[in-house]
Amino acid sequence: MQVHKYDVVIVGAGGAGMRAAIESGQRARTAVLTKLYPTRSHTGAAQGGMCAALANVEEDNWEWHTFDTVKGGDYLVDQDAAEVMAKEAIDAVLDLEKMGLPFNRTPEGKIDQRRFGGHTRDHGKAAVRRACYAADRTGHMILQTLYQNCVKHNVEFYNEYYVLDLITVEEDATREDGTPYKQKRVAGVVSYDLASGELHIFQAKSVVFASGGLGKIFKTTSNAHTLTGDGMAIAYRAGIPLEDMEFVQFHPTGLAGLGVLLSEAARGEGGILRNSEGERFMERYAPTIKDLAPRDIVARSMAQEVREGRGCGPNKDYVLLDLTHLEPEHIDAKLPDITEFARTYLAVEPHTEPVPVFPTCHYAMGGIPTNIKAEVLQDNDTVVPGLYAAGEVACVSVHGSNRLGTNSLLDINVFGKRAGIYAAEYATGAEFVEIPESPETFVTEQLGMLREASGSERVGTIRAELQDTMDLNMQVFRSEETIKEALDKIAELKERYKQITVQDKGRRFNLDLLEAVELGFLLDMAEVMTVAALHRKESRGGHYREDFPERDDENFMLHSMLYKDPDAETEGVTGIRFDTKPVIFTRYEPMERKY
Ligand SMILES: Cc1cc2nc3c(=O)[nH]c(=O)nc-3n(C[C@H](O)[C@H](O)[C@H](O)COP(=O)(O)OP(=O)(O)OC[C@H]3O[C@@H](n4cnc5c(N)ncnc54)[C@H](O)[C@@H]3O)c2cc1C
Repeated sequence: MQVHKYDVVIVGAGGAGMRAAIESGQRARTAVLTKLYPTRSHTGAAQGGMCAALANVEEDNWEWHTFDTVKGGDYLVDQDAAEVMAKEAIDAVLDLEKMGLPFNRTPEGKIDQRRFGGHTRDHGKAAVRRACYAADRTGHMILQTLYQNCVKHNVEFYNEYYVLDLITVEEDATREDGTPYKQKRVAGVVSYDLASGELHIFQAKSVVFASGGLGKIFKTTSNAHTLTGDGMAIAYRAGIPLEDMEFVQFHPTGLAGLGVLLSEAARGEGGILRNSEGERFMERYAPTIKDLAPRDIVARSMAQEVREGRGCGPNKDYVLLDLTHLEPEHIDAKLPDITEFARTYLAVEPHTEPVPVFPTCHYAMGGIPTNIKAEVLQDNDTVVPGLYAAGEVACVSVHGSNRLGTNSLLDINVFGKRAGIYAAEYATGAEFVEIPESPETFVTEQLGMLREASGSERVGTIRAELQDTMDLNMQVFRSEETIKEALDKIAELKERYKQITVQDKGRRFNLDLLEAVELGFLLDMAEVMTVAALHRKESRGGHYREDFPERDDENFMLHSMLYKDPDAETEGVTGIRFDTKPVIFTRYEPMERKY
């Protein structure tokens, strides 16, 4: 067993991980462990932009941005965190510019900005140009820029190292009010080297989770195959709670039948959604900002049009994104990649034909709970010293129950940077925690079981059944009946998972084995998500209950906190303990959410 020792270990080399590494690498000995080559991380697929109230093309300020974020998240946003993000957004963009990111420019040479859903002038008066962008390849440019700067700062990467477990110890500690409790502390991580099949222990004073989202729980998704919720599942299994897991974002414009994303920038640049009657239906649902309403509202409106028989195509199961009124040169300059997707995957020419679209699973608002220093919470009152999380894996919570477009590329830069700084500062003043004996036992047993099993179940079948049931029951419309159906199916699949067989029994590059491990993460996260959805008997943001169609602030203006606990039961599911956490308010009282 190889043991490595670093001050800071960062799990994940997407935008959040690398932004953290740039800070941490300059302050402490830092390693980045990543299951993908850094530049293949999903951040590189982000298209539309990253927002900041630069006010380069029209009046804007960070306070309006904070308000939009809070209202966009249907008031479940922690407002202290949203303020930090909106304020630090400006420097986050300028940092990237200084690192060399080639943003689109205005004729005067300033960073250009465009419109995006939910971003408004003066508290909802009209859409505002707030998103900085590099054509429709903004994430690609961010990822490449961050990678090059990591190389410049000699950050050490361990590529194709899968982190499979977190090593923690428990110590006696006292809360502020004097009561004793068992405090978790971080000692390191257990990782699996894909090339050799060997396990490596990384001892670290600080560990930063930056491992991205879990979109592969659903069949129709914009997310890459590798987004299997690893970080969330690993933290959860280690006894750390997960926050607001019921809130999943369905992006309105996935290519119909495929889920491949067409950026909201298409509507930011003037694209319009139409139903089978050619009607611009968003005028009815959001009269002020229409097609640029937040994603939860647009996605639900589209699904509603289809339900009421105004869908398009032979099965009337999608709506149309119309760009044909825009100048072809404008489309080619501002949206080159996504229009190419429409040609390649659907054989549609966006210059002259509208593009078939339908909502696609896009983003996890929930995740590992942190405070604004990116420190991970062990419970509502205490943190796990040395443990940090940032990016899509984390829930700080700036997105509440619905994230605004371009706020994630911002989140990963602002809180990635903070995580890197605070993790390094902590490591500089702390001692290594002694690694308990054989910390790899759990992973060795798990891999051994999967390798040696000879049951009749296959990874691909179980995953497909999980994704089908989630698409069917946990999408933009949910009810007790559909959620329970999903839960029953998940319980069945978890049983069948025990009978799984991997065909590749080898050691080197055994992706078959790792997909089996990832499926275990997906099943755990699907269960947590579904239990949280059943518990939340109201509609808010991305979580819409047909049996409880109103927002219920009296009973549910609270974050959900789910703990793995063998002795507990929640909503009839054993092994999960449910708790809540108050939402942090600073300046905005909850209002009715009209656009
Ligand atoms: C198609 C698409 C378009 C988008 N467009 C936009 C946009 O225009 N604007 C916007 O704001 N947001 C956008 N988003 C959302 C945004 O891109 C993501 O939320 C964000 O980039 C996530 O960054 P991250 O660093 O948290 O994770 P990721 O970039 O997903 O990186 C995760 C990293 O974790 C590593 N990892 C995962 N599991 C393990 C493990 N077990 N062991 C080791 N390493 C692991 C991976 O190797 C990877 O390096 C888009 C998302 C998609 C899917």
